[in-house]
Amino acid sequence: MDEKEKTPAQKRREELLNPRKNGYDRLASEDEAAMQGYCEDYKKFLNAAKTEREAVEETVRLAQAKGFVPFTRGMSVAPGDKLYRVNRGKAVMLAVIGEKSLADGVSIGAAHIDSPRLDVKPQPLYEEAEMGFLKTHYYGGIKKYQWVAIPLELHGVVVKRDGSTVQVAIGAAPGDPMFTVDDLLPHLGGEQGKKPMSEAIPGENLNILVGSRPFRDDEGGDRVKLAIMDILNQKYGLVEDDFISAELEAVPAFQACDIGFDRSLIGAYGQDDRVCAFAALAALLETERPVHTSVCMLADKEEIGSEGVTGMRSAAFDTFMSDLCDAQRVPLKTCYEHSFCLSADVTAAYDPNFPEVYDKRNAARVNYGMGFCKYTGARGKSGASDAAAEVVGFVRRTLDAAGVIWQMSELGAVDAGGGGTVAAYMAERDIDTLDAGVPVLSMHAPFEVTGKLDCYMTYKGMKAVYQA
Ligand code: MN
Ligand code: MN
Repeated sequence: MDEKEKTPAQKRREELLNPRKNGYDRLASEDEAAMQGYCEDYKKFLNAAKTEREAVEETVRLAQAKGFVPFTRGMSVAPGDKLYRVNRGKAVMLAVIGEKSLADGVSIGAAHIDSPRLDVKPQPLYEEAEMGFLKTHYYGGIKKYQWVAIPLELHGVVVKRDGSTVQVAIGAAPGDPMFTVDDLLPHLGGEQGKKPMSEAIPGENLNILVGSRPFRDDEGGDRVKLAIMDILNQKYGLVEDDFISAELEAVPAFQACDIGFDRSLIGAYGQDDRVCAFAALAALLETERPVHTSVCMLADKEEIGSEGVTGMRSAAFDTFMSDLCDAQRVPLKTCYEHSFCLSADVTAAYDPNFPEVYDKRNAARVNYGMGFCKYTGARGKSGASDAAAEVVGFVRRTLDAAGVIWQMSELGAVDAGGGGTVAAYMAERDIDTLDAGVPVLSMHAPFEVTGKLDCYMTYKGMKAVYQA
């Protein structure tokens, strides 16, 4: 219909109202192929990075291929320099030095690379009923019933008595054995079925089955346990006490894959928050000589409160930024107060199977693009960073100018629950911060689902922020 045929009411409607539209009705044709290619790279990243340590290794590998070099204290920096620093193998910071001074602030993309999982306890191995098990302690917010009767892999490191480190990734290679936590058969699960979901599988029942074949020609007890230690000793040189100084994580054995007849979705473990980590990283790797220095911060420990030396609350980030500022003789506080951070973490996608926990007018929708959250938090916004209107306005203009499909969202209905992320810890450093990320279905489940369009638009949004 051309302009002449529109009634005054129709014109007014178009000027004043903005009905939310599916991203596929707004996707530019040139974005289509780029989106598919990006999502293939993202799935490869997910399969290579099932733990925070592996995410760091993969990040460094990708960064080095793009010319990034380790940044050490006292190094001089020049516009266009590409630098990175690893924090204890579990977090990583990268920067592309901009044309402007660090005194004019930096553009930060911050995400986290740890995900909910089952951590192996320090004294884990035992035998019961001639089967071998590893005791676990879950990490992050999980629904425990989701972690039984699925295939698991075991990833991590063991530091032996002599100080040498053994890397473990069992289940990752084709043909590898896997592990599992067994569940009760329904035939005998009558009483279990009456319990609330949160109590049906107690935390101390999350014991991983790791073997059943007894040691040959032995009359002593614990023959299965002995046989398992014998395998670990022959393969890795381990003795039982080495579990004490180990970080072994049991993670779901699923490979990232397309979901749906139309392949429009991605199913995988650990998309919270590697979907935003990869977006923040991929966008930075393509950033050349930005106006402001671009910084990508991939943090550990978000799922347990950002505590710890590798979490977002660690001074490691300030030290990295301070070392960069020292190279330009700029006070860190001057840099921070002019900086902007997009705290890129997943948000809850509206799930029509559970409409009661969402405000459907404010919930993020799958395929509606990158989801901003002005605030997260619980109850009366407790724990939220709650970005200022000016900050939201800045991001809105920046992303519109870059042709990014985005949506405004809130994580669930008021009083339905809530959550938080690293945004508050960036904000408390005196850095303007806004939450934004990919809407996820089945968040924190062993197998999470995202929309390809939203994954790609988050990458495009990160790119626009770095170039702002
Ligand atoms: Mn997260
Ligand atoms: Mn999370």
